[in-house]
Amino acid sequence: MGKYTVNHTCGHTVEVQLFGPIKERERKMEWMQSTICSDCYRKQEAEAAKAKAENSGLPELQGSEKQIAWALKLRQEQIKIAEDTLHGLRWYASGAYKLTEEEITANLRSKGVAEAEIKARLAAVASEKEKYERQLALIEQMKVETSAKWFIENR
Ligand SMILES: [Zn+2]
Repeated sequence: MGKYTVNHTCGHTVEVQLFGPIKERERKMEWMQSTICSDCYRKQEAEAAKAKAENSGLPELQGSEKQIAWALKLRQEQIKIAEDTLHGLRWYASGAYKLTEEEITANLRSKGVAEAEIKARLAAVASEKEKYERQLALIEQMKVETSAKWFIENR
């Protein structure tokens, strides 16, 4: 075990303890000295998330600096997941959302589908539609939500 002083490229020096063979330690030192320190890395990440948020037209978040940095990342991820879920719904993907119940019924009847089967399909469509609307409402909420805490609590 040995104590080393790492001179990061950002200009900060950090004390570290390294273990293992000298060769390994030297390699690790060399690598660490070619990087920025972890504080600067975190700041860089937070600024990148902030810049991305500004470009996306999403509102500024309220909260502590730490909460905002975290929530910016969460918001980005959560909106992406919600949108993927939305577009993955069968009801949406099949284009059924463009049709009314009457149109679907008429369509199925013209193909000779039994009434009981039509009823079951309409129920399936309604349930998918409900999921879609819930997902859509969630996305809308995330796009206007300004509380950093909200994203952290709903992650
Ligand atoms: Zn630094």
